[in-house]
Amino acid sequence: MPFVITDPCIGTKDTACVDVCPVDCIHPGKGEAEFAAASMLYIHPEECIDCGACVPVCPVTAIYDSVDAVPGSQKALTEANAIYRNGHAEAMAAAEAIVKAHIEAHPELMNLAPTDRQAAH
Ligand code: SF4
Ligand code: SF4
Repeated sequence: MPFVITDPCIGTKDTACVDVCPVDCIHPGKGEAEFAAASMLYIHPEECIDCGACVPVCPVTAIYDSVDAVPGSQKALTEANAIYRNGHAEAMAAAEAIVKAHIEAHPELMNLAPTDRQAAH
């Protein structure tokens, strides 16, 4: 079961997780073309080796340790993580569309500071 990034990453995007991931499965990173346009970062579900290194470095507790652990309010973002592929414009657009819909559907979360969102999941 891969790890999953959820909505506290929106507006944070500090890439601390990218720096510690041993298999480079979190994208887009700061040096990548899609970084500026991405609303959040995504974990490739087949490349993640479930090592757990990304969880403690995330300043906003955005990362869940399995698909099953992702709470109901964040389930759509599991799909966004699953379909994003770095450097593929269509996959980026599809993932971002899910994120935009999530933002519109959850003003109660988006109106909170990123540091407070996970507790409200
Ligand atoms: S659990 Fe490990 S392999 Fe998976 S995204 Fe986090 S740091 Fe990378
Ligand atoms: S460490 Fe957390 S907030 Fe920072 S980019 Fe990774 S998931 Fe997003």
